Amino acid sequence: MRVLVTGGTGYVGSTAVDILLTKGYSISILDDCSMGHSDNVPTGANFVQGSLLNPDDIARALVDCDAVMHFAGKSLVGESVEKPDLYHSVNVDGSRNLLDQMHVAGIKNLVFSSSAATYGEPRQVPIKEDAPTQPTNPYGATKLAIDQMITAESKARGIAAASLRYFNVAGALKSSRGWLAERHNPETHLIPNVLRSTPENPVKIFGTDWPTADGTCVRDYVHVVDLIDAHIKALLSLQLGVHEIYNLGSGDGYSVRQVVAAASAAIGYEIPTIDSPRRAGDPAVLIADISKAEEKLGWVPTHDIQAMVSDTLASFS
Ligand code: UDP
Repeated sequence: MRVLVTGGTGYVGSTAVDILLTKGYSISILDDCSMGHSDNVPTGANFVQGSLLNPDDIARALVDCDAVMHFAGKSLVGESVEKPDLYHSVNVDGSRNLLDQMHVAGIKNLVFSSSAATYGEPRQVPIKEDAPTQPTNPYGATKLAIDQMITAESKARGIAAASLRYFNVAGALKSSRGWLAERHNPETHLIPNVLRSTPENPVKIFGTDWPTADGTCVRDYVHVVDLIDAHIKALLSLQLGVHEIYNLGSGDGYSVRQVVAAASAAIGYEIPTIDSPRRAGDPAVLIADISKAEEKLGWVPTHDIQAMVSDTLASFS
């Protein structure tokens, strides 16, 4: 089976490419390398450097493919608040183009990177897939719009699809070519920022007055290797005309201060931090109910928070 991995040069997409190749899948990649890195393309993958906003690029990338794993898109909450139109264009219009080109090529299998940001501030935690969707930022709104588009596509054109709503992805895969590290510039994610914190430039803790036990935001972290395992299980479980949604996390929440403590244990000294104002668009607590993925996909995440920070640290060396 040949799988098109959109966004296959980025952190999560390149991890998917590597694991899929190891499992014997043939791989095509479509990426404009705006966030990813062309040196992540392994030998043996067919690479189209192009954009989801260009239907011809998508058509070229889809040649001979049987399925699509769609990772490409803009994914920073803070940036989306500043540039909502950019997020709508790349994420929503780009995904519309992808669905249309899949239809032209007769490809019906899709696994999509959705997000817990679709839920917004939850009324209940842990969050189940049927919880209300009220995104608190444009990033989450674009992921929700795409999920809704995919549902419509499954009904109108009979595609087989799964949207995987990621909570917070962390850790890294050590591939045969070395670690596939998270490499964003600027980096906005908590764990890489914590691990790079110095006394001169301490990591900022965004908000210490949230309604949580220690006043900092609580998130549910999932190891990127566990996440890709769920993608493959989702791919193998697709059914024509059905769009399934799965929440992917660990089922446990960690506050920003607890993440700092885990990272301090991994690095061997107390990581310097500085209390800072809240970041726009952040909900206080996001924890996944992962029982649907466990039951329907037979998926069990196996890496804990300590493994996530240790692997992220190792991937920087
Ligand atoms: N965060 C923080 N300092 C940072 C980066 C993130 O305090 O330098 C907080 C952020 O406000 C959120 C949590 O850490 O509560 C996780 O943020 P991240 O950007 O890693 O992922 P997100 O939850 O936005 O997907």
